[in-house]
Amino acid sequence: MHLPDLDIAKKRDKKENNYIELKENYKPVLKGKKYFLRTYGCQMNVHDSEALRNYLEALGLENTDLVSNADVIVLNTCAIRENAKDKVTGFLGKCHYLKKKNPNLKIVFAGCMSEQPNVINEIKSKHSYIDIVIGTHNLYDLPKLLLENFNKQTIEVYSESDEVIEGMHYNRDSQYTAWVNIMYGCDKFCTYCIVPYTRGKERSRKLEKIVEEVKRLKENGYKEVTLLGQNVNAYGHDIGETFSHLLECVAKTNIERIRFVTSHPWNFTDEMINIIAKYKNIMPYIHLPIQSGSNEILKRMNRRYTREEYFELFTKMKEKIPNVSITTDIIVGFPNESEEDFQDTLDMVKKCQFDGAYTFIYSPREGTPAAKMTDNTKMAVKEERLHRLNELVNYYSNQSNQKLLGKVVEVLILGNSEKDNSKVYGYTDTMKLVNVSGPKEIIGQIVPVLITDAKSFSLDGDYLKEKVKN
Ligand code: SF4
Repeated sequence: MHLPDLDIAKKRDKKENNYIELKENYKPVLKGKKYFLRTYGCQMNVHDSEALRNYLEALGLENTDLVSNADVIVLNTCAIRENAKDKVTGFLGKCHYLKKKNPNLKIVFAGCMSEQPNVINEIKSKHSYIDIVIGTHNLYDLPKLLLENFNKQTIEVYSESDEVIEGMHYNRDSQYTAWVNIMYGCDKFCTYCIVPYTRGKERSRKLEKIVEEVKRLKENGYKEVTLLGQNVNAYGHDIGETFSHLLECVAKTNIERIRFVTSHPWNFTDEMINIIAKYKNIMPYIHLPIQSGSNEILKRMNRRYTREEYFELFTKMKEKIPNVSITTDIIVGFPNESEEDFQDTLDMVKKCQFDGAYTFIYSPREGTPAAKMTDNTKMAVKEERLHRLNELVNYYSNQSNQKLLGKVVEVLILGNSEKDNSKVYGYTDTMKLVNVSGPKEIIGQIVPVLITDAKSFSLDGDYLKEKVKN
């Protein structure tokens, strides 16, 4: 194992993917015991947790929301930002306390943080109470580790993998929407990002296996799938396939809604845009991270596009995909970002008028090239820029929502509204959150909703029994 290192990682093995078909046959030998699972980070981690949950429950463990009641605690960690790491460290303090009270408690540390050698060293020296550490490449080892090594600290992490796992089972969080992992890893090496080191090289699943999975989900009543990859539109380059072909094959299953995250502007082809525009069941929603509007910063981020190229792609999507909604990610305060660079970012936000944006202050990740860059921009300046950016982003997000006022939109209803239990909630085709006045019976259905109020981050609406024409 070695610290994340750009040169070593770039020389990684180019050999062919190793496809592994899992055969799962577990006995409920831990019946009567309880597990507590906490997930940090992105959709990939959320989906990995659905696999971890499957393993735990296949062994007979039952879920508890009370950590103090658990016999097994699983932390599925994230390494993207410092605050995610801080949250994990804080929660470990609680785990340590519980372990002292109950020495039989088992603590499992999983996810991206476990792929970082500095974290492993810290676990060995400071957190000896953690029983099992598994990496992102071998989640399927959890049952074996829980059963075989129940009495000593075991670290099983592979820093690189050519494996593509097929036949994974998931205990999914929703009965109506499902994540479908289509590829693993990332080869982009954006200079600020730890993912190419923690998740390994890009490896695509077989097209027919993905289509089979979607068909099965449809048969089981799922209304929506989200194709998932760190770099979803890079799908297939390692196996002679293309993302546009996959999208078309998935669209032909006739599942009602198809989404995909996360796209990299560099890999977005005209063919993909044409396919999205062609099929009604591919949702007109694209999350297209821009990260910065400054060409100088984009170059230092190794994003492989200029602001002009991004805008050209953005305009093409807007022109060709009817009613498309585009959201983005923006990093503020990348090392030595000048006010001029930041103004370029604000300018791109004004040009694109994004439907929404996730905004962050740059956070250095040890071992990445950006972490070694000189940074003379003060934190107070970065915070003030984030504030200015958020005001602009929220303005456009609100504008985009206002356009739906008085319109009837199709909403997939997912459950009871957290804000108001008398209401239900769901998402439009363009991925806008709507709190809906309507009966609980519509949960799990795609229904017409009249939009009655629009805010920056959500909409309110009334369920319409009879669809009214706009
Ligand atoms: S494309 Fe995304 S996951 Fe890959 S290195 Fe860049 S930011 Fe990280």
